[in-house]
Parts: sequence; C-alpha cells; structure tokens
Amino acid sequence: MNKRTKIVATIGPASSSEEVLKDMMLAGMNVARINFSHGTHEANGALMDTIRQASSETGKNIAIMADLQGPRIRVGNEKEFEITEGETVIVSDSPVSGNEKNLVIDADHIVGAFKVGERILIEDGTKELKIVGKTENGAKAEVVVGGTVKPRKGINVPDTQVPFGAVTEKDEKDLEFALSKDVDFIALSFVSNGKEIEEAKEKIRKILGRETDIPEIVSKVERKEAIKNIDEIVKASDVVMVARGDLGIEMDETNVVVYQKQIIAKCLEFARPVIVATQMLDSMINNPIPTRAEVSDVSNAVIDHTDAVMLSGESANGSYPVKAVETMAKIIRNTEKSAFDDYCKKCEHVQENKEYAALVCSAHDMARNSDAKAILCISRSGFTARMLSLRRPQEMLLVATGSEKTYRQTAIVWGVDAYLFSEGENIEEYLNLMICRAKEEKRIKAGDSVVVFMGGLPGGKKMRLVGIREIE
Ligand code: PGA
Ligand code: MN
Repeated sequence: MNKRTKIVATIGPASSSEEVLKDMMLAGMNVARINFSHGTHEANGALMDTIRQASSETGKNIAIMADLQGPRIRVGNEKEFEITEGETVIVSDSPVSGNEKNLVIDADHIVGAFKVGERILIEDGTKELKIVGKTENGAKAEVVVGGTVKPRKGINVPDTQVPFGAVTEKDEKDLEFALSKDVDFIALSFVSNGKEIEEAKEKIRKILGRETDIPEIVSKVERKEAIKNIDEIVKASDVVMVARGDLGIEMDETNVVVYQKQIIAKCLEFARPVIVATQMLDSMINNPIPTRAEVSDVSNAVIDHTDAVMLSGESANGSYPVKAVETMAKIIRNTEKSAFDDYCKKCEHVQENKEYAALVCSAHDMARNSDAKAILCISRSGFTARMLSLRRPQEMLLVATGSEKTYRQTAIVWGVDAYLFSEGENIEEYLNLMICRAKEEKRIKAGDSVVVFMGGLPGGKKMRLVGIREIE
C-alpha cells in the first residue's frame, strides 16, 4: 500500500530540474509548493510547466500549490547596521536623516499603526525592539535584544493590529498569474480572520468567472490573530497549514506543538485537510541524515493525524532534496505500520454535515467488519473522499473522479489514491473503470471484497448507496 500521510515539498533552485523533480515524485512527494516570495513569473511559470511534465512522465498525481507572500514586512534599510540593548532607534517607513539610528520598515501604513509597548521582531526574532513613543517621522523604539540588522530580512509585529489584508498588491498580480497557470491550491500567508479568506475566494471566482473547479485555499496559521480566530479560519478554509516558522516567532516557540495539536484537532472536527510545516527535517538542508528530534517530529505529526507534512528549505535549497523526501516517506511508513497510528476517534464528532458523516461512518464500519481490502468511492467535488479519509481507515481508499481539479486536490488528503476518468458515462461505468485499474495495479484481485460508497447519483437524485462487492 502507498504511504497514507502526504508530503508537500517546496520547489526551489535545488529541485527545479526535471530529473530531481521526477526522483522526488517517485520518492513520495504529493504536492509541489512554489513560494511566490521568490522568483519572477517567468521562472515560476517555467517551473510549473516542468512539474506538470514530470508528473505526466512519472504517472504520479502531483498537485501544485502557489504560496503567496502575503503582508510580509521586511527591513527597508539599504545597508546593515548594529543595534545594542537599551539604545533608542527611530522606526519609519522611509529613511530619515539625523543622529539617531533608523530602522526603515518596508511596508506602508505599519509605522502609523504602532502602539506603545508593541514589539518589533527582526530576522526570526533574533533582534527585538519595543515601541516607546511616537515621533513626527514615525515611532521611537528601544532595543531589547541587539545585533546586526541586515537589509531585506523579515520583520514580525505580533502585537500590532495590521491595517492590511492577507492579499497585497504584489499578491494580486501573483494570484492572477498563478490562476492563469491552473494551480490546484493557493496558500494565503499571515491570514488574520475568516473574512479575508472569503474575500480571496470571491476574488478567485471573479477572475476565473466560474464557481467550480477552482483552486482550494490553504490558510497559513502563523499570526497571533489567526490563533484567536481559529474557528472562523478553519471554517472558511479548504485546507489549513500549521505554519510553525512564523507562528513560533509571533507566539512563544515553546508553545508551537500545543498549537499544532489544537489546530489539527480543529481541522479534524471540521473535516478540513491540514498540513504541518517548517523545519521538519531542517538539518537535512546540510546533512544526508536527520536528527533524532526531527524523526520524532515527523512521526508525531503522523500520530497527531495530520493529512500532510511539509518540506521547505530541505527540498528547495538544500543539498539533499530527494533524500529529504525519501527520509520523510520512510518515517511516515514506519509510523503508519506501528500501533501508534490508530483509528481517528476525533472524527466521530464532526461539526458539519453530520448526517453525511454518519453515512460515511457506516461505509467504514462495513469495511472494518467485513475484511474488505478497500473502500471505493466516486466523488465529484472531493467531499466524499475527504469525509472517508477523516476516519483514517486501515483499508485502501480509492476514489474516482471526472474532474481534473478534484483529482489533483485529493493529492493532499490523507490516504486517498485517486483515479481520473474522462470516459465514464455513469456511476457504474466509473466503478468498473476503477476496479479494472486497481486490478491492473495489483491493489486488489479477484476474490477480494471491497466496500463501495456512492455519494450522489446522476440526475441530482439524493440517493446514497453503501454496499459490499466481490471482485470478479
Ligand atoms: P513561509 O511559511 O515558509 O512562507 O514563511 C511557513 C511558516 O511560516 O512556517
Ligand atoms: Mn510563514
């Protein structure tokens, strides 16, 4: 059986060749993430073409995620400078002359939003300032932790009510471009609330001029505000990412695992796929083997029942991109084989679509009690596939769909192996095509029994069907 937990790998200079991409796909990558903080449209467009090419040549179902930069604030100074503890610095959005040191913030309207007592964290929180007052040019801040402030480094303002949404002007252009390249997921960075996600969805529908077969929104939970509004964010999202990098800067990093577990539990409650991201195999950027702590991190995320785990620098600019995917896949397989990766009880308390969830449960119960090899379903939007996956069944989960978007979007859903059929006319034909393919691939054989779940029947008739079928 394939591994069940999916792998999202960030693609960058270390992994942009077709050869490396193919090896990563064969090693177990399911979703290719393009970080729009870097690269031109031309370069990222070419990269997406190469990913599609490699996917079709390896026969692997690979989704593409365009990750928008969002309101990422950066150091706007042109030259690096030192700051020392206790010293006062002028904070402004354009350079000011004078004797005092000046931190330039590369983002409009932030400086005006600062309030006394709020923190400014520079370069992953390694330098820290605290706002102590206003000046005519901006704000005055005292250095709490000193060091070298380098141009373009990231800034986090965890206490500040930021006056802009999750989609910036740059993101708008990147979004239009990503949509023109037919991506499967759009990731939104630094989301604060559910409204921003709804607005982004509306924008996407408007640009594409349609309501279905649109990219799914991945909300990156990495702000204090997002933790506060986690319920509405999960509900408004299609997929959620525990973005531990920035989350660990904005919140106390010693609390990140607690948030990870809370966010995963919330996603299971609302049947939204969830990704655990950042630093999972960080040392593999430079080394061919991971640390024991990193192995433990990936294992534990699987045991938490995440849908996917993510590689960032490890696959984008490390020395061992393929090895990192192989290692991650191996940790996943070993964990899934163990007794610690159990059936997911949290799924018995789904908050939405309870009736449908109960029906899906009966399919799973039938499989558990009948020695079935697999659960087969036909899913137009992917919803039935997600509901079935939610219980983390031991049995294979084979899904047939006629929508290419849905097919690719299932790449992120735990345990789902999807088939795309364009020729099927009705449900019976889809089912036969799927059984044929699964037999060819030696997933099932004559004499096996499988549970068949049919969500909607053609003609809009609301009839559901759950049954056992013996493979001939
Ligand atoms: P990033 O997001 O890599 O785009 O910053 C992930 C994170 O913050 O963990
Ligand atoms: Mn981030």
